[in-house]
This record gives sequence, C-alpha cells and structure tokens, in this order.
Amino acid sequence: MRAWTPPEIPTPTVTGPAVRVHDTATGGLVASDPTDGARLYVCGITPYDATHLGHAATYIGFDLLLRAWRNAGHDVHYVQNVTDVDDPLLERAEKVSVDWAELAERETELYRTDMEALRVVPPQQLIGAVESIPLVIDLVQRLVDAGATYELDGDLYFSVTADPAFGEESGYDTATMLRLFGERGGDPDREGKRDPLDCIVWRAERPGEPAWDSPFGRGRPGWHIECAAIALEYLGEHFDVQGGGSDLVFPHHEMCAGHVQVATGRPFARAYLHAGMVGYDGEKMSKSRGNLVFVNALRNSDIDPMAIRLALLRHHYRSDWEWTDAELFTAVDDLATWRKAVALGAGAPAGPVAEEVLAALADDLDAPRAVAAVDRWVAATLGTDGLADTSDADAAGTLLAVLDAALGISL
Ligand code: ZN
Repeated sequence: MRAWTPPEIPTPTVTGPAVRVHDTATGGLVASDPTDGARLYVCGITPYDATHLGHAATYIGFDLLLRAWRNAGHDVHYVQNVTDVDDPLLERAEKVSVDWAELAERETELYRTDMEALRVVPPQQLIGAVESIPLVIDLVQRLVDAGATYELDGDLYFSVTADPAFGEESGYDTATMLRLFGERGGDPDREGKRDPLDCIVWRAERPGEPAWDSPFGRGRPGWHIECAAIALEYLGEHFDVQGGGSDLVFPHHEMCAGHVQVATGRPFARAYLHAGMVGYDGEKMSKSRGNLVFVNALRNSDIDPMAIRLALLRHHYRSDWEWTDAELFTAVDDLATWRKAVALGAGAPAGPVAEEVLAALADDLDAPRAVAAVDRWVAATLGTDGLADTSDADAAGTLLAVLDAALGISL
C-alpha cells in the first residue's frame, strides 16, 4: 500500500558516529554499524483506531534510528507493515457497523497524515497484511515442510519446540511467557495444543469473517507470521533491527523469530529494539483502558506537530513515562524560544552542538541529551544564561540542519 510523503531533510555539516543500540535479546548495547546498507523492520499499526501518543512515541523512536544511520553515512532500507485484517479490527468494525476494509483504510489514511505531520520518514514499503497473503502462504508452507506445524480443528499451529532458540529474543522464563501469551492475544488454555505456547499461523475461516483460499484451507494469517513473511520478503534474511513497542517483546517478536529461524535456519534480526510505554492518568495508554490521547485531536486543536514531537523527544525511547498536558505546553514555549534564537542568524558556536546532538543519538538514540544540548545553545545565544553570544555567524544554519536531520524538528 501507499506510504506517505517523505519530509525534505537537510544534510548536517558533520557526519555522525557509528550507532550503538540496546538489543533486548542480549540485554546490552550492540554496535549497529551495518556495512552493506542498514535494514530496519518496525511493526506497524492495526488500523482500527486513530494514532495515539504511544504509537507516535514508538514511531518517532525508530525514526531517530533511521536518521542516526543516515547521518552515519548508511543507506537505510525501512519496511513497516499494517495489520489490516486481524481480530481487534474485525471486532471494532462489527461494533460500529462499518465494513472492516473501509475502517482499515480510513484509519490507515489518518495514520499517514499524522506521521507526515510529525516529520516521520516513511518506510520504503508499507505493506498490508491483506496484500501479503501470498507471502504468508509461502512461509507457512515452508514451516509445514519443516514439520513445524500441526492442525487443530482446521487451525494451523506453529510448534514452538521446533525452534531450539525459542525464548532467546525475550529471555523470559516459561511462567512469564505463559502469562504474557494469555494477556496478549494468545490461547494458552486451548485444549488439544501440543504446547500451550504454540501459536496460530493460519486461522480457519469463521462465519462472518473474511477468508482467503490456501493449501491449508480457507482462512486468514496469524499476526506473527504476517510480520515474519513481510520482513523476509522485503529485507531478506538476518536484517539489522526489528523494532516495536515493548509489549511486542513477547509473544510477537519471539514468534516472528521462531518462524524465521525454523524456515531459514538463521536468526531473524541481528538486534531487537523496543520502545517504552507511554502512560496517561496513571495507566499505560491503551484502548482497553480508554485513556488515549490522539495525535489528530491535538493537531485539530492547533497544536504545532513539532511541539508534540519535541515533548516526546524529551523522553528516552526506551523509558516508560507519563504524558502530561503541562509537558506539551512547555514544549510549545520551548519551540518559540528556539525559533527566536535561530531567527538571529548568528549565535553561540553551533559546530560543537551539532557534534553533541549526533553523538547523543548514536548512543542508543539519546534524544533527551541531544535536546538538552540545543537548550544550552539557545540559552547561550539569547543570553538568558548571561551575555548573549553571537560569535558564530552561521550558527543558525548549522543548527537548523542538524535539528531536522537528527531529531526531525523543523523550526
Ligand atoms: Zn510485527
């Protein structure tokens, strides 16, 4: 499917250093310095509702990785999916009496406009689950051929015991896996399964649900096999980073890794990156709790999308934190102050700030550290920390370029 229009991004005056990121599987910082083009897969939305700030924080987090790689001189190949057929979407469509495909297209379009407004660089391929069904069928067939599946009342299951490396992505013990599997769409208690953690790769047709023909009967893809098939097709084997929110550590990313390990004999991704959860009113922002703050609602209130982005960037992508309206209003004020400083043209020396911004982002995408460096430059330029410093005649140009290239903030 169509992605969205990419922002025009300036080139910073200095090259960024090699990028290091936190890998969930190893639990440590790993050098993410691809030699042959950087390949990134980020799990996309299930389009049954508008983009909330938790989504925005996740996609902006991975946007920082893409920008850090580019600034270090790498070509980036970025793929994202849209789960445009799945249980939550079908349930919502039925509840509001709208055709599921129509609901998916409407919410996907809203997502595109939100991402564009937030200056998130689009993936080269934005791939829907429906359009990837032939890829899914091919990958399921490989799992069948490998003897890694079994049928239960028409549904086709993946045997987690077929993958000797199962569990290495999340590092969770069995009790934790069982709990999270039950909480996040799995069916650990279904009778007849060989292992409670086995997951569906092809779900047999249910009355009233969309279904497609396949060698395994009419049905539709499981969620995990969808991402596995799309990433394998468009990025190839053993790509650099799979990303998503931390609620995807298990079962989603573990299952993707399992499917691909069995089908190809190689690990799925080199590193697994996970963004923290954003809370609101004391709880994780989620549909079921009804405490969502929508990006388009803020935009409709005439909030500058750059202020939304700046408010999100003041938190590290891996941290769990709570959104407050006060932080958004502070970001609106900060943006006005930053604009006042760059409007002067000359300012405090900007070269070291540009280097600090790029270094911070190369160090596990430390946006708060990068933003703090910009704050210090603004204070020095405006003289709010003493005497105004206008010793660098081209300061504003240098700063504007690095701000946009590395942080995605266009002033
Ligand atoms: Zn995914």
